[in-house]
Amino acid sequence: MIPFNKPYLTGNETKYIEEAVNSGKISGNGMFTKKCQAYFEKKLGVKKALLTTSCTDALEMCAILLNIQPGDEVIMPSYTFVSTANAFILRGAKIIFADSRKDNPNIDESKLEDLITNKTKAIVVVHYAGVACEMDAIMKIANTHKLYVVEDAAQAIDSYYKGKPLGSIGHLAAFSFHETKNIQSGEGGVLVINDDEFIERSEIIWEKGTNRSAFFRGEVDKYGWVDVGSSFLPSEIISAFLWAQLENLDKIQAKRKQIWNAYNEGLKKLEKSNQVKLPTIPENCTNNAHMYYLLCSSLQERTALIRFLKERDITAVFHYLSLHKSPFFNDMYEGKELRAVENYSDTLLRLPLYYELEKEDQVLVIKNILEFFNKN
Ligand SMILES: *Cc1c(COP(=O)(O)O)cnc(C)c1O
Repeated sequence: MIPFNKPYLTGNETKYIEEAVNSGKISGNGMFTKKCQAYFEKKLGVKKALLTTSCTDALEMCAILLNIQPGDEVIMPSYTFVSTANAFILRGAKIIFADSRKDNPNIDESKLEDLITNKTKAIVVVHYAGVACEMDAIMKIANTHKLYVVEDAAQAIDSYYKGKPLGSIGHLAAFSFHETKNIQSGEGGVLVINDDEFIERSEIIWEKGTNRSAFFRGEVDKYGWVDVGSSFLPSEIISAFLWAQLENLDKIQAKRKQIWNAYNEGLKKLEKSNQVKLPTIPENCTNNAHMYYLLCSSLQERTALIRFLKERDITAVFHYLSLHKSPFFNDMYEGKELRAVENYSDTLLRLPLYYELEKEDQVLVIKNILEFFNKN
């Protein structure tokens, strides 16, 4: 049986967890948390990174930091995970869903201006499969209309747009270390702050609305309740696990890219014969090999292919069902039809991609997909 995903352990996770446990300090914001945060600050070239218990939590922090109030409008793609929207719904925002691009599932920047009203507060972009949205155009629109930009960079570790790391371009960004992502700690995330105006408050919100961090740095002589907040910081056990993964980022990425490229090579002829579409990486963007997907020509064909592979012990899975048509949101949706989103919801299929995917297993996946399309 070839699974869709298999979380990879580098070998040092339990060693570092043991170190954290033996240090006697296993609550949050300890040695491993600081090491991981410093790593991201350096890698992304940003002033502040705060580990969180999930990307969902980091997105919720973004919504609090932006002071989203009931009635504020937030624009985001409909082709995304529920957390992108929930974080803002929880603050009472009205979500304005945008369509995707035709060449990849990212938000279609050319449709944004039409969605902006005087209530719009922010644009949330999602770098689908770790491939950058068209950030120059998006930042320009945001600056013109004085809007904030949040990057949902859940899938976008170690990926770049015109040489800039994803997560360092918008005002705020959120990454995920859920076990389905390139680098994982079971559950986990990081909030990235690129705008000085949010730095001080981010730490307060992170520490339950207190100025505890400033107190321990000796910046204030007592600490107390100064703002809203919650318990967004992970324990040292999670941070220790994450550190073992981060130490191996380059190794993990090299292997994932190799697997991604092998899929792309192996399936190329199906694209040549117009039977499927393969992912396209725009010129200014890098590929971080978060995901390999193909686009079938219809929902029926995709369903048949999933079944065909399943019968051969291969797990391939579809992805997002559009949020604007979800049971939760459908009655609230009053916008236009989002054709590109519908198309990705119906036809996108993700293939097994994980560090320990064996060469012969991948060959088998490719062989079976080719066989399916030869028969049909
Ligand atoms: C995985 C993912 C999330 C949620 O991440 P968690 O760490 O599980 O909260 C949010 N947005 C996108 C686009 C994701 O892929």
